[in-house]
Amino acid sequence: MRNTELFERAQLTTPGGVNSPVRAFRSVGGTPRFITRAEGAYFWDAEQKRYIDYIGSWGPAIVGHAHPEVVKAVQAAAALGLSFGAPTEGEVLMAEEICKLVPSIEQVRLVSSGTEATMSALRLARGATGRDKIIKFEGCYHGHADALLVKAGSGLLTLGNPSSSGVPADFTKHTLVLDYNNTQQLEDTFKAIGDQIACVIVEPVAGNMNLIKATPEFLQTMRRLCTEHGTVLIFDEVMCGFRVALGGAQALYNIKPDLTALGKVIGGGLPVAAFGGRADLMAHMAPLGGVYQAGTLSGNPVAVAAGLTTLKLIQADGFYENLSAQTNKLAQGLSAAAQQAGVTFCADSIGGMFGMYFAKQVPATYAAMMETDKEKFNRFFHLMLDNGVYLAPSAYEAGFVSAQHDDAIIQATLDVAKQAFAQLKL
Ligand code: PLP
Repeated sequence: MRNTELFERAQLTTPGGVNSPVRAFRSVGGTPRFITRAEGAYFWDAEQKRYIDYIGSWGPAIVGHAHPEVVKAVQAAAALGLSFGAPTEGEVLMAEEICKLVPSIEQVRLVSSGTEATMSALRLARGATGRDKIIKFEGCYHGHADALLVKAGSGLLTLGNPSSSGVPADFTKHTLVLDYNNTQQLEDTFKAIGDQIACVIVEPVAGNMNLIKATPEFLQTMRRLCTEHGTVLIFDEVMCGFRVALGGAQALYNIKPDLTALGKVIGGGLPVAAFGGRADLMAHMAPLGGVYQAGTLSGNPVAVAAGLTTLKLIQADGFYENLSAQTNKLAQGLSAAAQQAGVTFCADSIGGMFGMYFAKQVPATYAAMMETDKEKFNRFFHLMLDNGVYLAPSAYEAGFVSAQHDDAIIQATLDVAKQAFAQLKL
């Protein structure tokens, strides 16, 4: 009952009882679990119930929760002071590490959230090109800056609202929304108004309309069109960066964007995000250039300590091979269990991210994603939750596996899933 008690109290002082909408279980129904602690692949709620966690803080917890080395680094940094508002060596090391690991990033600036990273990249693209129009794709979420909060997937989809109220039409009139994976539409748009477009922003692996991978052709065409028209190509790798591969989706697809937004994994669970890319573009940023952007807690020393340690851990030999293999094992196992039970279902994975779809085929488009059976997902979610497996509380979110999800944990998950699929069939 402690979860219920806390949720009732929370709703008195916080809208909907949560500090980020999807946590509220509005889509799946029921009471959100209040988490008291986490370790490795597990967390525990306020009633001491243990769950195998497949959210991983919505992406950051790639090395597992409370990794001893990350915790030690954070404690050591905290003991030296929490924030200075002046530069530190840690920020230099962090920037060097990001530039070394992400193929297209020559210079980078640290911020505190993915929203800030994409918002700033957008401003930079507009400042550098002197153009206003931007292209985004339906179902891609790029944080909650006004201009990007249009048909933005994720929590908005979960609440049944493609876009947010409170955003003046004037602020989004320059935002063109196209279909994900529709190469022809992109070609046509560039043909018509390519020279007016400041930037194209895309999740190269979309994780906010469940998991949908871009086709190589879609991204290659986007790269070519942006180059031809002097448009800045922004990869939003806040979710897929350091999640699908060490150098992010751009390393996997072998495509260099002009700018990249990062977040989640690079903070290892504390607020660090970043945007970076071509040095000539980054030179437009204040204090060098005229594009303004700033942050009291940007490059915070404690957060950077968590990020740097996480970036070190994910460079261990075989880290991504192992993570991908475990995630693939989970996706394949779920598909097999569903098939055995006669439930229409499929799953997909890339690196440490996975998607589950109550549909015959893995969707490649937003429209196909919307056709999946949300009610079945909701029932499946609760059956898994009751039996100690915590999935994202929405049919439109991707799932995350950490390096601590070993064979026994994956098998335990599949055992629970077998029962859940059997129940679904009843
Ligand atoms: N971009 C993508 C692709 C995301 O998935 C998210 C968050 O889920 C964001 C941007 C926004 O990041 P934040 O929640 O840190 O503001």
